[in-house]
Amino acid sequence: EDLPADEKKLNRLREVEDAVYTWVDPTPTDTEPHTLAASQEVARLIGLDLGELQRPEFAAIFSGNAPLPGAKPYAQCYGGHQFGYWAGQLGDGRAICLGEVVNEAGKHWELQLKGAGKTPFSRMADGRAVLRSSLREYVASEAMAALGVPTTRALSLVATGAGIYRDMFYDGDVKEEPGAVVCRVARSFVRFGTFQLPSARGGEQLGLVRRVADHVIRRHYPHLNGDNGEVSAGNGAAGEDGAASPDPKYLRFLKEVAERTAATVVHWHRVGFVHGVLNTDNMSILGDTIDYGPYAFMERFDPNYTPNTTDLPGRRYAFRAQPAICQFNVLMLGKAFVLAGLLDGEGLQEVVDSFTVALSGAFSDAMRRKLGLRDFDPGLYGDLMALMIQDKPDFTNTWRALSSVAPGDGAEGLTPALAAALGEDLAQERVEAWSAWAAKYRAVLAGQDLPAAERRAMQDAANPALIPRNHVMVSLIAEVESGNTQGLEAYLEALARPYKDGLGESAWKVPAPRQIRKGIELLSCSS
Ligand code: AMP
Ligand code: MG
Ligand code: MG
Repeated sequence: EDLPADEKKLNRLREVEDAVYTWVDPTPTDTEPHTLAASQEVARLIGLDLGELQRPEFAAIFSGNAPLPGAKPYAQCYGGHQFGYWAGQLGDGRAICLGEVVNEAGKHWELQLKGAGKTPFSRMADGRAVLRSSLREYVASEAMAALGVPTTRALSLVATGAGIYRDMFYDGDVKEEPGAVVCRVARSFVRFGTFQLPSARGGEQLGLVRRVADHVIRRHYPHLNGDNGEVSAGNGAAGEDGAASPDPKYLRFLKEVAERTAATVVHWHRVGFVHGVLNTDNMSILGDTIDYGPYAFMERFDPNYTPNTTDLPGRRYAFRAQPAICQFNVLMLGKAFVLAGLLDGEGLQEVVDSFTVALSGAFSDAMRRKLGLRDFDPGLYGDLMALMIQDKPDFTNTWRALSSVAPGDGAEGLTPALAAALGEDLAQERVEAWSAWAAKYRAVLAGQDLPAAERRAMQDAANPALIPRNHVMVSLIAEVESGNTQGLEAYLEALARPYKDGLGESAWKVPAPRQIRKGIELLSCSS
């Protein structure tokens, strides 16, 4: 009651459907924003005229300095398991949804500013984002889309012109850094944690789980509401013990979420992506990759690699752990539905099982394509992993080089491309171990007898030549901070065709030099 009118507005929750979000406007800065990058592809997706991207009004709107005409911005309220523990309410601390656009094809896209000021969920933080983290999010979103990985997109990267204070290494050394806002674009920003929060609160809030589920199903999984008569009406029939059994559409919904999640985590393993913060509030209900914080694309192969400093020493979110963590997250989502009476224990088991089944199917299929095989060969794959674990070659370059190995390729042992990917400092006995594997690989390929061109096309479409590398982004960030966006533009253009390999020899294709490796392998959340 004592709150000033502004604060009251910020904290207001609308009844029923609106209780999982709060109206909140971006906070303008008193500086002049300017656009650092904008995606023509995303602009087309949302039906925005490309000429708009150059205008100062665009920078003003997509930094949060000017309102988007007709929009009624809001921040979402959700909870989540962070590092395995229930953390209660989290919510969009610095993300503000501007609203939804419907493109010509009738598809809905939500626009969201990240770093445009505080929301009721900001807690002690400032609601802002530094340029380095916004640039990393922008680059990753667009690169992942081009790699064929389900992901949120990025329309724009706009420098606010305002300074932000951050302690990059949590060592008490606070620096002023430039701020920037990314406009994220997705079909939906609903997370696993959106369902978990009202479920954990219980009581009257349980009804919200169903309301949000019905909304998401209607909007994004409409086939589950099909009129084939299979979908039961209301609560379904009473069971033996007299309790109503849940509507089976929620089971089907969760199974599909589980399957999409499994497909996405397999894509991560295909391209060497480590998310870094796989908390349930960072899990999209559509299976999109969301929240690019301390992520990394693996360079030297190490299944235990985590790019997140706060994930040490536990390595909960290491590369190899991602499938198991996603399964845990699916289980937590399912439990939220059980508590809300929308799923029973058997259903929960079915949901987790469908994750496991989808994961193993998608995984062997992806690895089959990475190896260029007609039928997956687990032995061949396992032997390759053993070699990679021992010698730690660059993940991307090693996989990409495999299509150079072919029956009758004329190479003694390693092909020049594979030898180059493995690096010059490989000991002779290791060269022999790899050569022995290559010989076995040629034999398997000969036995499976796929036409050479077909095999190569399939394989090169599964093994990108170009992925975002930390050391490249570190130098681009410095360039952009000093006012030069040409390198960023060229990098984004190259990343838009990651399977093409049109670059020839390029610093963008090599892992971080040893001298700087230690300094960039770990990233903080201080963004
Ligand atoms: P994350 O680990 O990025 O998923 O963030 C966890 C929670 O912290 C979410 O509720 C974020 O919105 C919030 N958060 C992170 N950074 C900031 C910030 N600079 N200002 C406000 N909230 C933040
Ligand atoms: Mg997050
Ligand atoms: Mg984050």
